[in-house]
Amino acid sequence: MVTIDLSGRNALVMGVANHRSLSWAIAQRLHAAGARLCLTYAGERLQSSVEELAGTLPGTLTLECDVTRDATIDTVAARLGEQLGSLQMLVHGIAFARKEDLEGAFVATPREGFMAALDVSAYSLLNVTHRVLPLLEKQGASIVTLSYLAAERAVPSYNVMGSAKAVLEQSVRQLAYELGPKAIRVNAISAGPVSTLAARGIHGFTGMLKQHAEKAPLKRNVTKEEVGSCGLFLMSDLSSGITGEVIYVDAGYSIMGW
Ligand code: NAD
Repeated sequence: MVTIDLSGRNALVMGVANHRSLSWAIAQRLHAAGARLCLTYAGERLQSSVEELAGTLPGTLTLECDVTRDATIDTVAARLGEQLGSLQMLVHGIAFARKEDLEGAFVATPREGFMAALDVSAYSLLNVTHRVLPLLEKQGASIVTLSYLAAERAVPSYNVMGSAKAVLEQSVRQLAYELGPKAIRVNAISAGPVSTLAARGIHGFTGMLKQHAEKAPLKRNVTKEEVGSCGLFLMSDLSSGITGEVIYVDAGYSIMGW
């Protein structure tokens, strides 16, 4: 039997809002494998719920980080440097688009809505990576972000978030190329729909869940635990030969041609 042992390794997990968050599912798996975690929360509104969750994973740090404010990212990097010394894992489970830009006509997306979605959901991957790079490059590391099929297909209501995911996936490839010589791997998990806070902001999400389960080869939706397990795999040495990839955890939906 293969067991994954991440003891002695540190993970920065960004994007936990509540117990439904995909980042939380990954965090739980990493902690169970022995990793030490730091969870970040986007603002004071989420502080108590994230601290409560972190309290269930002994030894876990919590820090505020709003990726639209570079100073908060730098503070996280500095605190991690002081308290952990190095990072071997970065989980980027962050996305945002304005509600009004996730309904109606994509063609009418205003500049500020487009920029906001791209900034938080895609640019933040490279910006955070850059700012924690001195911690990541000490012993090699693995970075995982979360994407969705709308990066490459037209999906109703996904609108500007599809554009952001396309940029995110290309950023994964470019970062994997650039950071490979530093022994840093970068991959994305393209997850099937899971009911979370962010997903419920997509107009018609419940219908999407139903249709997905009907069409997917496994005839069901995926669970956040399955996304968590893939995150654990990508963080572990079991995936040491994989970088720059988008791995689908979607019950097979993406292979279908109709
Ligand atoms: P979620 O709402 O639990 O997580 C989204 C996170 O983004 C939240 O923690 C939120 O606080 C954070 N965030 C938003 N703006 C931020 C900012 N300015 N600074 C820092 N953090 C910020 O929902 P989720 O579904 O777990 O989303 C996680 C990732 O998974 C997202 O990238 C999402 O697009 C992706 N994804 C989700 C699904 C799904 O169906 N749930 C499917 C495929 C991909």
